[in-house]
Amino acid sequence: MKKNRLLLLVILFTSAVLHAQNIKSPDEFLGYSLGSKYTPHYKIVNYFNYMASAAGSQMKLEQYGETNEGRPLLLAYVASAENLSKLEDIRKNNLRLTGMLTDKPGDVNAPAIVWLSYNVHGNETSSSEAAMKVLYELLNPANAATKEYLKNVVVIIDPCINPDGRDRYVNWQMQMVGKTVNPNPIAREHMEPWPGGRTNHYNFDLNRDWAWQTQIETQQRLIKYNQWMPQVHSDYHEQSYNNPYYFAPAAEPYHEIITPFQRSFQVEIGKNNAKYFDANGWLYFTKEVFDLFYPSYGDTYPIYNGSIGMTFEQGGGPRSSSAVITNTGDTLTLKDRLTHHFTTSMSTLEVVSKNSSRVMTAFKQFFDNTNSNGAGEYKTFVITDVNTSRINALKKLLDANAIQYGYSNGASLKGYNYFTQKDESFTTGNSLVVSTYQPKGVLVKVLFEPKSKLADSATYDITAWALPYAYGLQSYAVKEKIINVNKDAVVKTPGEMPLDAYGYLLKYNSFEDAKLLVALLKAGIKVRYAERDFSFGNNKFSRGTLIILRKGNEAKIDELQKATTAFRATVTPIQSGFVETGFDFGSDKIRFIKKLNVALITGKGSNSNDAGEVWHLFDKQLDYPITLINADDLGNINLKNIDVLIVPAGRYKFLSDKESSADLKTWVRQGGKIIAIDNAVTQMASGDWGLKLKKTDEEKDKKEDAKPSYEDLKKFAESEHDGIKSFIAGAIYKIDLDVTHPLAFGLGDNYYTLKQDDNVYEFLKEGWNVGVIKKDNYVAGFVGSKIKDKIKDAMLIGEQPFGNGDIIYLADNPIFRNFWESGKLLLSNAVFLVGQ
Ligand SMILES: [Zn+2]
Repeated sequence: MKKNRLLLLVILFTSAVLHAQNIKSPDEFLGYSLGSKYTPHYKIVNYFNYMASAAGSQMKLEQYGETNEGRPLLLAYVASAENLSKLEDIRKNNLRLTGMLTDKPGDVNAPAIVWLSYNVHGNETSSSEAAMKVLYELLNPANAATKEYLKNVVVIIDPCINPDGRDRYVNWQMQMVGKTVNPNPIAREHMEPWPGGRTNHYNFDLNRDWAWQTQIETQQRLIKYNQWMPQVHSDYHEQSYNNPYYFAPAAEPYHEIITPFQRSFQVEIGKNNAKYFDANGWLYFTKEVFDLFYPSYGDTYPIYNGSIGMTFEQGGGPRSSSAVITNTGDTLTLKDRLTHHFTTSMSTLEVVSKNSSRVMTAFKQFFDNTNSNGAGEYKTFVITDVNTSRINALKKLLDANAIQYGYSNGASLKGYNYFTQKDESFTTGNSLVVSTYQPKGVLVKVLFEPKSKLADSATYDITAWALPYAYGLQSYAVKEKIINVNKDAVVKTPGEMPLDAYGYLLKYNSFEDAKLLVALLKAGIKVRYAERDFSFGNNKFSRGTLIILRKGNEAKIDELQKATTAFRATVTPIQSGFVETGFDFGSDKIRFIKKLNVALITGKGSNSNDAGEVWHLFDKQLDYPITLINADDLGNINLKNIDVLIVPAGRYKFLSDKESSADLKTWVRQGGKIIAIDNAVTQMASGDWGLKLKKTDEEKDKKEDAKPSYEDLKKFAESEHDGIKSFIAGAIYKIDLDVTHPLAFGLGDNYYTLKQDDNVYEFLKEGWNVGVIKKDNYVAGFVGSKIKDKIKDAMLIGEQPFGNGDIIYLADNPIFRNFWESGKLLLSNAVFLVGQ
């Protein structure tokens, strides 16, 4: 086999040299007409490889990574032969324009970089088909137009951002379809099964992950992105098949930081797209639905990095197979869909090429401005928190985004305190300082600003994400530039761990510490935690402190040392079990942590994103085994070997229906632990488990109040805005914690929750109201006027004993998109500490 392949390669190579003028189109290469059926990912890879060898003087292909399922992630660089030969110089010059490379000044008389990203949502499949056509036409010697474009533009093509998702969809679709496609939308080939191909292997939406980079596809891609910093980024999607095409300009709200040029150039590109769509009689819309606010999209993230970022949306998606009859009676085919994406790709290249010097000048200005003036009202963000593990987690995020930072010691400053929400004076002490006077200054502003200004509240996504809340870090936003910032922190190296102590103490106040706990449990080390504060040899230790006694761990001390070194944890050796205040280590207030068997409800019925977040947390971050159980199977399996059952958001009969929940209730009564998250809590509230949903006075009065009210007289044209009054888009609330409860250990006095619905619960009568929302606990983000009053004086985090077992309620998803760092500790506490 190998020899044959080599021979084939030689033949291909030779024919490429001989027939460079005659490269194969996708139709010729694939053996079918593009769009007549779906192309699996490996064939797209094959075509890109073929083109790289057939047209090597104008194309360079690079594998920048691999997916969870082992598929290659590719970037194709396409340029004129002259530009391709100096590609590295072009890249470096581009970085000089941003200030990320400072060896010499950048030159604006260079080609603009246009980065085309296809198929980030795996089941929005037409765009990767279009990518092959784009590549071909850029390199087709007979195409005079693209030859012209490539004089002023270097094109970077990512043919498929999400290959695992794409193949999940395409493989399924190929199994469902007969010899011809059935365009009737009720046919099974239009009904994609759970979890769908939109997301990656762990069911993460990669178009929400740009800034957070929790997924390996994003992590690997962003390294390349930050090495190139393109002037234009296009992101290709699909929406419902009944919708016409969407292209820029985007809808409000726009983030206030977006520059006039970024706004107006979107319009220029949009008008050029419209010209081609008008000529063909194709329908489209602009300025609606797709806004520019949440920072982690394929349009906004590039925009906050100085680029013109745009979303393109073709009607299609998983319900459209390769042909579908729309609600106007027309048949929409895969060929139509890919042709539209091809057209906007080409049109974008045309506009950028014709205006490349304007684009380059504006790009340089964007960075000159940030580098010398900073960005926004607050110029510097100072993290005064002393929790090193949490700061390290934040630094990891900053590094991944190529954001520079330093340290300040002893400076007296005034700034906005995120936790008290007041302007206060403070002094730095080896504090992390993140300035907006840097190439990534705009991104810094957007990620750190305490409150983001919303011009219009009908946004597509969450409206608050300020990192100090997400990471639970005491921080200040300062209006001045801070001078005397050191590059390096004062680092304390942990001392050697003596091997013969009575025991060892480990602090527990970050997700890193939870990871260390898990590593110890996996290594078979016996770990306890202190339920109360205690002091030992003049040192105070907080509740939650992990205790590893020599007794029972005699053979494991080496492993303990290995794990604590790997986690860079500070170990406090102790020579006695006798404490000065608090409980001695033999007390029953010192809890032994059993290694528990954890299961997660997943499959049809569960929300795939929410289930995926828990799966990813255990599989890739905690590195702890978790048993995935299909929701449908729950009635037929025995949970006797399971200790903890995590129920993410979804729709489950076994929570709300009395009869179906009987078995589960018995399991909990016998000692099981349920951790219900998000709307799983809401369903339990309607299912006789012991908690109640809190209702507003208006909701309570609804039935009795039949009097006519002028408030019901609404204007038709204002329907959207009336809806907004009862809408919450993802806002931050401060939660007051019962710090004495294990669920709150390590979190501090408050936890900041990302609230995405108005569901709040009455205080538990039987159980522990560990996290409650009191009056005036609103912090940031959009909350509709009608529901603002409801979200107060209620329980959001609770524990309720149930027979010999436990139910833990986490009303908001604490690990939303896995970027809400402090929520990871909350969930870890629920699993590993509560009920031990
Ligand atoms: Zn999409």
